[in-house]
Amino acid sequence: MGEGEAERVAGELEKLLPGRVSRDPAILRIYAREASGVEGAPWAVVFPESPGDVSRLLAHAYRREYPVYPQGSATSLAGSAAPLEGGVVLSLERMRSIKSVSVEDYTVDVEPGVRLAEVNLALSTTPLFFPIDPGSVKVATVGGAIASGAGGMMGARYGTMRDWVLGLTVVLPDEKGSIVRLGCRTLKCRQGLDLVRLIVGSEGTLAVVIEATLRLAPRPEATPTMLAFFPSEEAALEAALDVRRRGMDALLLEYMDVETARLAAEARKAPVKVEGYMLLASIASTRESRGRHLAELEEIARSRGAESIYRAASLEAAEEKGLLEVRRGLFAGQILAGRRRFPGRRIHVLIEDIAVPPSKLSLAASMIRAAAAEAGLPVGIGGHVGDGNLHPSIAFPLDDPSAAEAAWRLHEEIGRIALRLGGTVSAEHGIGVEKKGLLERELEHLGAAEALRLMRGIKRVFDPKGILNPGKVIPP
Ligand SMILES: Cc1cc2nc3c(=O)[nH]c(=O)nc-3n(C[C@H](O)[C@H](O)[C@H](O)COP(=O)(O)OP(=O)(O)OC[C@H]3O[C@@H](n4cnc5c(N)ncnc54)[C@H](O)[C@@H]3O)c2cc1C
Repeated sequence: MGEGEAERVAGELEKLLPGRVSRDPAILRIYAREASGVEGAPWAVVFPESPGDVSRLLAHAYRREYPVYPQGSATSLAGSAAPLEGGVVLSLERMRSIKSVSVEDYTVDVEPGVRLAEVNLALSTTPLFFPIDPGSVKVATVGGAIASGAGGMMGARYGTMRDWVLGLTVVLPDEKGSIVRLGCRTLKCRQGLDLVRLIVGSEGTLAVVIEATLRLAPRPEATPTMLAFFPSEEAALEAALDVRRRGMDALLLEYMDVETARLAAEARKAPVKVEGYMLLASIASTRESRGRHLAELEEIARSRGAESIYRAASLEAAEEKGLLEVRRGLFAGQILAGRRRFPGRRIHVLIEDIAVPPSKLSLAASMIRAAAAEAGLPVGIGGHVGDGNLHPSIAFPLDDPSAAEAAWRLHEEIGRIALRLGGTVSAEHGIGVEKKGLLERELEHLGAAEALRLMRGIKRVFDPKGILNPGKVIPP
C-alpha cells in the first residue's frame, strides 16, 4: 500500500473509530517496537474500547486489505508483536476490565488488555490465583499471554497458558469482523475440534482475542523457598534435578549462571550477594511439612557444594526479603551483559527459549557453552529449569555483519542442540519472526514437515486475505 493510500485509509479509520486512532509520530514510534528490539513502522495505532470497535476495524481492514497487528504490551521476545509490514497496530490496552470472578467455578472472565498481575490482585482476597507468571507479569496482558502461549516461573507445576484457558471470544479478520465465542466455562468440554487450543499460542495470526474465561488454581498452603549459590553450573542444575528426584512438588526452580546473576542483581538492585551459580527453589507444601521441606532444600544445596544459602518460610516472605529480585532481573542482566561487551554501540540480544527433558539440562548447558566457545561468542544462561526451559542469550552489535552472522549461526546451533536432546526450539516465547527457521528445522527433525502445510491451510481458513499479523510464525 503506497503512502497516499495509507493516508486515505488512516483518514477513513479516524472517521470509523473517532477518538480511538492515533497517527502522532511519537505514539507510532512507541508501538513500532517490542521488547525483543524487533521494530516496524505502522501508519496508525488503533485503541478499541469495545468488541464492536475491534469488529469494525477488522471488517475495514479486510475490505481495504491492510495489515493489522494485535498488541498487548509488546513485551514479546520473539518478534511476534512488531508491525513489520506497515499497517495498523491494534492495541488492546483500553479493553481492560475484569468482568467476573467465580470462586466456586475457579474461573475469571477478563478482557484482553488486563495485565496478568492485575488478575492476581483481583484474586487477593480469595483462596485462588492465576498461576501463569512470566517475568513480564506486571505489564504483560492476558491477550498477549494467551496469543503467545506464555509460561513463566511456575511452569514446572502449572505448565503454560494452554492449560489455563477454558473459553475465548475472538474477532475474525473477515468481511463482517465476525465475533465468535469458543470453548466453555467448564473444565470438561468437547466442542468438536479444539479451536480454543488453536488460538492459544497462535501469536495473533488467526483471530483477535477480546475476552477470555481463565481457569484458576487454589493457592498452595505453604511455599517454603530457598535461594542458593553453587560453585558450578553443573552443581546448580544437578541440585534442581535432586529436587525432582526426591519427588518434591516444585513451584519454582529457577537457574542463572554467575555472570548473568551478578548483572541481574545489579540491574534490579537486589539485596543479595551473588556468590555463584544461582538456584531459586520454592516448593508447594503444607503448614505441617514446610519446615521439613526447607531443611530438605538446604540439605540438597549443601550436598552440591552451595555455601551461600538464603531461606524464606513462603514466597511472600521471599518477596519481602528481595530473594526473587535476582531472578526477576534475568532479561535486564542479559541486556546489560551485551551493553557492557559492546559499549556505546547499538546491540541486538537474541534470547533463546529452548526446552529439553530436565534430565538433559546439564548436558544441554555444556553443549551450549562448547558451541558458544567455538563461535567465539559469550552466552549467558538462565531459565525455568523445573520444566527444562533454558533462555541462553547472545548479544551482537548491529553495526558488525560478521558478528551478526556468527550470532545467528549460534542461535541455529542452540536450536539443534535442543532437538538432538529430545527437546524443542521454543518453549514459551513463541515463534514470531525470529524462530521461523528453527520451527522449520524442528518439524523436519521430527519428520513432520507436513504440519507446515496444515498450518498454512489453517491460516487461510481464518484469515483468507492474510491481513492479521502477516509474516509471523508460519514459514513461507
Ligand atoms: C522481562 C521479560 C520477561 C519475560 N519473561 C517471560 C517468561 O518468563 N515466560 C514467557 O512465556 N514469556 C516471557 N516474556 C515474553 C512476553 O512477556 C510474554 O510472552 C507475554 O505474555 C506477552 O504479553 P504482551 O501483552 O506483552 O503481548 P505482546 O508482546 O503485545 O504480543 C505477543 C503476541 O500476542 C499477540 N497478541 C497480543 N494481544 C492479542 C490479542 N488480544 N489477540 C490476539 N493476539 C494478540 C501479538 O500479536 C503477538 O503475536 C518476557 C518478556 C520480557 C520483556
